[in-house]
This record gives sequence, C-alpha cells and structure tokens, in this order.
Amino acid sequence: MIEKKPAALLKQLENTLRANNQQSGWLYLEPIDNELLESIQHALDHQEIVPETQPERTPQKTIPKTITRLSDISAPIKDNTSTVPSLVTTQSATSEPLNMDPMQAKTLDSLRLRLRNCSRCKLCNDRQTVVFGQGNIRAELVFIGEGPGADEDKSGIAFVGKAGKLLTQMIHSIGINRESVFICNVVKCRPPGNRNPDNEEIATCSPFLFKQLEILKPKLIVTMGNIATKTLLPQASGIMKMRGKPTIFRDSPLIPTLHPSYLLRNPSALNLVWDDMRQIRQVLFQLRQKTTAK
Ligand code: URA
Repeated sequence: MIEKKPAALLKQLENTLRANNQQSGWLYLEPIDNELLESIQHALDHQEIVPETQPERTPQKTIPKTITRLSDISAPIKDNTSTVPSLVTTQSATSEPLNMDPMQAKTLDSLRLRLRNCSRCKLCNDRQTVVFGQGNIRAELVFIGEGPGADEDKSGIAFVGKAGKLLTQMIHSIGINRESVFICNVVKCRPPGNRNPDNEEIATCSPFLFKQLEILKPKLIVTMGNIATKTLLPQASGIMKMRGKPTIFRDSPLIPTLHPSYLLRNPSALNLVWDDMRQIRQVLFQLRQKTTAK
C-alpha cells in the first residue's frame, strides 16, 4: 500500500534521479525504484501530479480527470520562470566577430550573439529585446511558440507571462522540469500589440529557428499553435487536426499541440492538451528506449 502523496513521490524520485543524473538535469522516468515508479505512473495516469516547485506547506489541489476550467489545474505554484537564465549553456562564449552570418554559427551561444542586434525585419523597430529562447542545450525536448509578448520583450526570456506559466504547468504535468527543456519562438522579436507575425517576418526569422534546431538536435519537437506548426510543416492542416499526432520535421519527430495562449482564452480545450502531453511523454519514452537499444 503506497501512502505517499504524488508530489512527495515525485520529489523523492527527482532527488534520487538528480543525484544519479547530475550532469543531464533530466528527470528520467526510469525504473530505479519500481514501487516508486509505479506510483508515479499511477499518479501521472490519473493526473494527480502537482508541480514539484510547489512549496510543501501549500494545500495541494489534485488535477481532476476532466479538466474544464483553468482553476482545475492552477494549484498555486512558486513561479521559478523568472530565475530561468536567458541561456543555460556550457559552451564557451565565442570571441567571433558579431557581424558574422548567423547561419554559420556552430553553437547556440554564437547564434544568440549574432542575432542580438538583429534588424532584418520591421519587428526590430518596436522591440526592446531579441528573445532568443532559453533552456538546456542538451534538451531532448524543444517547445516552440509563436513570438514574444510584452513580458518576454521586457525580460528577454521566452514564455514568462501568463502563457508561460501555463506552459510550465504543462511541462510539469509529465514529470519534467522546465529547466531541462529548450523553449523558443518562431520570431524572436515581439510583434506590436501581440499581433500574429506576418509571412515576411516569419520567412526572415524562421531560418534562425531551424538553425537552433539543427544545433540542438532534440529527440522531440513540440510546436504550439498554428503558426509554429505551419512554419515547420507548411503542408500541415489546421492545428485541431494535427494536434497530438506524431510527425517528422527534417530528421526529428514532432508533435503539434495547442498554444498556451489559446488555452487561456479557451480553457475548455485543456483536456485536449493534457492528452497531447501524455502522448508527448509516451513518444519521448519510446525514443529514449530506441536510443538505449542502439
Ligand atoms: N507566446 C508565445 O508564443 N511566445 C512567448 O514567448 C510568449 C507568449
């Protein structure tokens, strides 16, 4: 009989795995402790996991099976997104001339530096910061949104506003730390008034996203919303048809899902995203097994 709360189990699992996988930073769901794993699996299947950043003393809300309102999942969590560094990297800062062609960059650091004063499209006129994206440079999972909003423009960090907090919860819901994935956008500068980026802006900026993916070589890409999905898969039908279905971008598996901003406006779609996240977890698990088997 397992009596521990899922959050406590997840914490315990995380501590064990952190100790074993200090380098990777990944929260591996591997059978280090079968009883623990079983209960985590049960909790995940029943959506009872709450984010591991939640302070112990906070009364914990379990995530109900049917999620129809945002409040169903928005158990108060300590927001750690503001502490996410703008680029977690072990690659040394480059001393290359900054006017060099970004497409020749060999590392994320070098690419970021070459883009930091970018003026290739009109978005540079209103932006405060080029929001390059951030996360683990060895990330297995990359999440791609559309473009920075006001909070991101100010902070220089992708997905830190309301949509970012929801994205953090989505990532936590499959037992993964936000810090272990990489998060970025199709366009790196904020479209004024949060309008959609136009075709010209997307065409100008998307090669840098593709370059990021080429350097990162993730196991799995997750596009969020129509714009990110269609940028990587121009032939894609609408996001509602594509979501949750594994497909391929160049050599990387890709699963589209809904954009967190859409979910904030349409909380009744939360259930769909939770299905997609479970699919993402499963595909990632299979991809890891494939790599181990090689
Ligand atoms: N929406 C996005 O698509 N990206 C962000 O970084 C924030 C909100």
